[in-house]
Amino acid sequence: MRRPLLAAGLAALCVAVGVPAHAWASTSGTAATPAVVNMEATVLAAQIDPRRADHTLTPGAKDSVLAVEQALEALNLLDPQWVDGYFGTTTVAAYAAYQSSLGYSGLAANGLPGATSLTKLGQSRFTVTNKIGPGAQVQRDGYVVDARAQAMLTAAERLLGYALTLEQGSYNPGGDPTSAGTHDGGGVVDISVTGMTAAKRTAVARALRKVGFAAWVRDPSQGDWPWHIHAAAINDTDLSSQAQHQIGDYYLGLNGLANRGPDDGPQVPIHTWEQYQRGQ
Ligand SMILES: [Zn+2]
Repeated sequence: MRRPLLAAGLAALCVAVGVPAHAWASTSGTAATPAVVNMEATVLAAQIDPRRADHTLTPGAKDSVLAVEQALEALNLLDPQWVDGYFGTTTVAAYAAYQSSLGYSGLAANGLPGATSLTKLGQSRFTVTNKIGPGAQVQRDGYVVDARAQAMLTAAERLLGYALTLEQGSYNPGGDPTSAGTHDGGGVVDISVTGMTAAKRTAVARALRKVGFAAWVRDPSQGDWPWHIHAAAINDTDLSSQAQHQIGDYYLGLNGLANRGPDDGPQVPIHTWEQYQRGQ
């Protein structure tokens, strides 16, 4: 548990400078509720913040996350000390509890805000802008993907000028044990690199990153798998917990593997599918 340690550290710091340990918590707990929650920024923070080693906030997300946390606090699902604009593991767990309280289960209670639950949470508290969602489940190369990931793959193919072939799709719980649960939810695919040179594999990973995937070329030395490209769609609200963590690690410059090594993929500015579409 990363958060309690951080809280203890912060409390100790407050004591050290003569501020009561509860002061920062009660102040943030009574902050004015903004009228607007940016869903894109909120979902992004919910993927990155749990993976941070420190208390850095996700840029542009603080006011939105605070509003969500205040609403969770009002439902007695989140202790006031965690109402701080940081969507860490405690807030993810609180949001998952909120989703469960609505009768959701499985991926619909994965702790990542979805458009329906977030809008419901905001009733009489905030309005939700920049709504995002995975869309319907569709077939691609005989595998199931969601419509958002499908559109992203098509955009990557447009950048590359050739077609890509899937080797594993999404919504595939227990399908491939070497995938460690990352394909259990939406937004995650494996792409075949059969017949590709090293340069071409890198070009594919770069194109996938450009359109909003966290994508890596995986080689047999890293795990019990053949060469392939693993790609997880940033901000897909159907992501499994494991895939959420992988994307958080991608933002933090890591390789998305259990060893949390440095990112070994082509460096491109990180952005989401929606940002790509807006030319950001
Ligand atoms: Zn994979």
